[in-house]
Amino acid sequence: MLLAQEIIRKKRNGAALGKEEIAFFVHGISNGSISDAQIAALAMAIYFNDMHLDERVAFTLAMRDSGQVLDWRSQDLPGPVLDKHSTGGVGDLVSLLLGPMIAACGGFVPMISGRGLGHTGGTLDKLEAIPGYNIAPDAEALRRLVRSNGVAIIGQTVQLAPADKRIYAVRDVTATVESVAMITASILSKKLSAGLDALVMDVKVGSGAFMPTMEKSIELADSIVAVGNGAGMRTAALLTDMSEALAPCAGNAIEVRCALDYLTGKSRPVRLHQVTLALAAQMLVLGKLAQDEEQARRKLTEALDSGQAAERFARMVATLGGPADLLERSGKYLAAAPLVLPAPAPHGGFVAACDCRALGMAVVGLGGGRRHPDQIIDSAVGLTQLAALGDTLSVGQPLAWVHARSDDAARQAIAAVQAAYAIGATRAADLPLIYRPAEPEFT
Ligand code: URA
Repeated sequence: MLLAQEIIRKKRNGAALGKEEIAFFVHGISNGSISDAQIAALAMAIYFNDMHLDERVAFTLAMRDSGQVLDWRSQDLPGPVLDKHSTGGVGDLVSLLLGPMIAACGGFVPMISGRGLGHTGGTLDKLEAIPGYNIAPDAEALRRLVRSNGVAIIGQTVQLAPADKRIYAVRDVTATVESVAMITASILSKKLSAGLDALVMDVKVGSGAFMPTMEKSIELADSIVAVGNGAGMRTAALLTDMSEALAPCAGNAIEVRCALDYLTGKSRPVRLHQVTLALAAQMLVLGKLAQDEEQARRKLTEALDSGQAAERFARMVATLGGPADLLERSGKYLAAAPLVLPAPAPHGGFVAACDCRALGMAVVGLGGGRRHPDQIIDSAVGLTQLAALGDTLSVGQPLAWVHARSDDAARQAIAAVQAAYAIGATRAADLPLIYRPAEPEFT
């Protein structure tokens, strides 16, 4: 007979758990027979003694099976079911672009997105800046939209991996979030529940990243690739830079505007464009919609230049209850803040460093993110024209423009932006934008 305390003891003593033991424990988490104290004890044991690849795969699959698993096979879609996931960042609106781009290239993207967490923005919060956009259609409406349009970006409407929700809540208050084994299982169980054929993971590196060091980001990327593939989903990961905002702006309506400008070809900020293309190209290759990266990039460029990606986005918005003419008349629909003020550089020089996390927190401070879970966010506020690393500024030139609801909020955000940037006398060497993870050697 399996007993929760014996499973905890085994992991505490450093032994590997078997598939049945892991499945038993996760099942007990779902049906309530295992207590929060037992979850906490196992989480701490895993934190210290880690899990081998086989254990991680078993843990991930057990968490996937704790809830509903979307079944696209019965839909007989004429293309692969693909998605991307990111560890989160500032000015990272890639999901809004890449979903429609992949759909225009023949992929099917049921993108189940989340809200902002800490300093990072959330795709759902951005989409809710579009009046009428329903982030929670029923399962049948989701299926119809994915089939007809190739892409639907929505919130979690069904119970996907509910065991993760309970485990995460315990980890959050027991100092056990920072376990690569548990982060891997948490992320992948939800993605596997969405019934994907392939996933590309964007693991961020730098001052705005969730993982604290390059080594830890590499460790997570390798773990995700090994476990994702081990669980039967073709998985690749890229490490990308988050030592400054990805787009030169951050905020909810602000990032939707940036997405519309990108999709319609009005403006494609270089860093954002490069990361979007790199991730989307990997998705097309993994999904066998392109033979290699070069062909994938050609297809993606065609999807953008022909207007097909913009059309997919517009159709998704209209089908989910948003305005039918958002692309043509975004100014009519997207909220704008009453105050737009510069954050002047305190002295001249080169932009030498950026505390990207602090920029994200400045947006939270303006009301564009949450300080507590049930806060209603202000979609109009945020930052635009963010200075980039290596830019030359003279004293008083804007580091960014602050979009605020009140004078007081603007003053605080200006000070936060000024503190987030370091201006130096010499130009720092450029950082790579995209790092590829080492081949996973994880066992
Ligand atoms: N994001 C998740 O979904 N889970 C984690 O454990 C960490 C980040």
